[in-house]
Parts: sequence; C-alpha cells; structure tokens
Amino acid sequence: MICVDTRGGPSVALHQAIARGLAPSGGLYVPEHISPLPDGCWQKAQSLAQLAELALAEFFADDLLGPSLNEICQEALNFDAPLRPVPAMAGNGGKNWVLELFHGPTAAFKDYGARFLAACLQRLPQAQNHPITILVATSGDTGAAVAAAFHGRPGVQVVILHPDGRVSARQAHQLGCFGDNIHSFRVAGSFDDCQALVKTALNDAELRQALALSSANSISLGRLLPQLSYYAWAALQHHRGGGTELNLVVPTGNLGNALAAVMARRLGFPLGRIVFATNANPVLADFFEGADYAPRASVATLANAMDVGAPSNFERLRWWYENDVRLRESFQAQAVGDAEIRQVIASAAQSGQAIWCPHTATAVYVLEQLRAQGTTGDWAVVATAHPAKFETIVEPLVGSPVAVPASLAAMLARPSHSEPLAADHETFKAQLLALA
Ligand SMILES: *Cc1c(COP(=O)(O)O)cnc(C)c1O
Repeated sequence: MICVDTRGGPSVALHQAIARGLAPSGGLYVPEHISPLPDGCWQKAQSLAQLAELALAEFFADDLLGPSLNEICQEALNFDAPLRPVPAMAGNGGKNWVLELFHGPTAAFKDYGARFLAACLQRLPQAQNHPITILVATSGDTGAAVAAAFHGRPGVQVVILHPDGRVSARQAHQLGCFGDNIHSFRVAGSFDDCQALVKTALNDAELRQALALSSANSISLGRLLPQLSYYAWAALQHHRGGGTELNLVVPTGNLGNALAAVMARRLGFPLGRIVFATNANPVLADFFEGADYAPRASVATLANAMDVGAPSNFERLRWWYENDVRLRESFQAQAVGDAEIRQVIASAAQSGQAIWCPHTATAVYVLEQLRAQGTTGDWAVVATAHPAKFETIVEPLVGSPVAVPASLAAMLARPSHSEPLAADHETFKAQLLALA
C-alpha cells in the first residue's frame, strides 16, 4: 500500500516508509487508507501471528515485503498477548480485563514492534547491500526492545540514546548489556532531548552520506502496524468469550500504542471506546479538554516510559480527523499524577487485584474513575510492562519482592555499559561518524 506523508511530501511504498522511519519533510508516513476487513473473516485465526497476517494483509499487498508477511509475523509475533480478567474492581454490570503485553524478551510491549521492524528491515534489499545504522531515542523500554530484536543480526547496528538517570536501574542495565552491534549512550538531558538528537541526525545530509540511517522510534510504521494485531487479538478473545465490544484504556506517551488501537478499530475489530491514560505530562489531557495542542518540555514521573511533552504520533492521529472538534469527540485523555500511581499500586496489591507497573497503574486509575462515574460495558486496561522492570518503585509499595521473568533475569546477569553523551548535535554527529 502507498503511504502518505502527513506534511505533504512524496508518497512512498510501504517498505520504503518502513525503511525510512521519518519522512524527509519531517512528517510521518500514514497508510493511504484503512478499510474495514470483510465481515468476520478474522474469526478463524488461531494465534496472534495468524491474526496479524490477516489484519496486515492489505497494507502489505503488492509490496516488496508482501510475500514475506507470513514469515515476518511468525518470527516476530511468537509470544502471546493474553486477555485476563481483573478481580476486585467494580464493573457496573460489565467486566474488567487486562491485556498483558509484557511476555516478550524485554518484558514490555515494545518487543512486538521492535521484533516486527527488525524482521522487515532484514528482508529489504538495501539491508543486504549496505549495513543500516538504526537510531533510537528511548525513555526506557524502546531501546531495550530494539536492542534485543537486532542484537547479533548481520548488516545492522543500533545506536540507543537514553536520558541519563531518568530510566530505572534495570532499564539502564538492559540498554547497556548487549554490546556487539548495539551502541548505548546515556545523554545528559531529557527524553525530548534524545528524540531531538535523533531527528536532527536523521535529517543531517552529511550523516546520511556516511551512514545508511534509519530510526526505530514509534514514528516508524514498521513498529506501529504490528501493534494493532494484539488489539485485534484482544477483541477476538473477548468476542469468543461471548463479549461484544471491548473498550480500552491505554497508557500513553508518544501515542504509538494507542494509535495502533485506533487502527485496529478502523479495521473493523469489535473495539469500543479508546481512552488515553497519561502520567502527569498534561499535553494530551489539556488538548482533549479543549485547549490548543501545546507541546512542552516533559516532566519526570514514576511512569518514565511515558515522560513525553510532545507526543510524536499526535500528528498522525490529527491527520485522520477532519478537524480538532471531531478528534476531541472521538477520544478522552486523562493525566494521572505520581501520588495516584503509588496509591493504585499499593491498593491493588493489597486487595489481591494484581501487581501493576507504574505505566499500567495510570490506566487502572483511569478505569477506576470511569467505573466510579457509573461507566458500564466491558473494559480492558493495557498492561504495557512487567512490574519487575520497576522494582525500586513497585516493591516498597507492595511490601514484597516481585518475581523477575526469566528472559529479564538473563539480561540482568550480563555486564552492562553505556557511554556518556552531551545533548548536542555536533558531539553526537562525531560519535556517529566514528561508527561509519
Ligand atoms: C513506551 C511505553 C509506553 C507508552 O507508549 P507510547 O506508544 O509511547 O504511547 C507505556 N508504557 C510502557 C511500559 C512503555 O514502555
């Protein structure tokens, strides 16, 4: 399928959009259209990978990557996204669910997108000729997922930037534990600074000459598209259990994960309302309450992977709606402070509901508010990471150690190193040129 540039630059084929990440204009690529799938054709899918292939078929039809779609889905989406009931929460006659997206190698949902992107890039003809350098800014989980997905793959090197001191100790360890073709830098600055460094580098003509640059941030369609498949899978699991529409609360930072839910709904999967839960960074909540869209510097919170002051996918979401009035009618966003995050984690553990990570806790808080206001229907909170990744926050609140998933434990057992880096384009450029 043709992909359109949100800022009016030339349209490109899907595989080109996946290879480039950001459009040369600075805009984002969006699929030309998203049409509903033939009624019920998805009902026979037996696994997440199978459903992904069905749901993504139209985007990949006629593309260079089309013939590999089956293989890519099987290889990248080979761990489950279970939908489980949440006990001990009011439902007003409806049911409460959690969609668990943390069963991949780095225990956060970013694994789905990163693995799919890696599987796509490796199958592009460029990759077989010139090695690709993938730049990724991370507020915590993206970098680790991308590193795990690309580690040891020939023809690719990955450069990860994270804000020094603003990710959890385990996240920082994960970022530096790969070595080989993975280069990890800790930046003296915020996540927004890291993201700006990547954007500037991607648009630097001299760097583009020296290195085949690509990005792996949530601006990449190669990450966004596979993410819609677990929402489709959740809708299917819910439908099989006799449910009708499943409503969602999605923990949101750069809006990639939530946007994938919007795409799944546009494809015709039985999803109802989609509510964005953010941390104390208020840009989205303010916009959906009627203020102008006003990006600003991010503030550090307990849900650090969502410390975003300028949600990069907002431009895509806006592009799909005639105007801001229509957009505001379609969604709701709520900002959740650190005090509420702490309160949710502590009380959910005490009531035997679950142990939530700080990001997931924002969504749980928002759903509890919706229920308290009398909201009916079946709702799922999206669990974006395993609580063991944030043990310094979670363990004191729940009063006991959180068991570490095996793949995470293996990474933590390896040595780890990240180079310091000033938040300055010329310094970063010199480092990149040294990798050419
Ligand atoms: C990245 C991340 C988010 C935010 O996702 P976006 O796609 O940026 O909105 C939420 N929770 C966790 C654990 C994450 O890693």
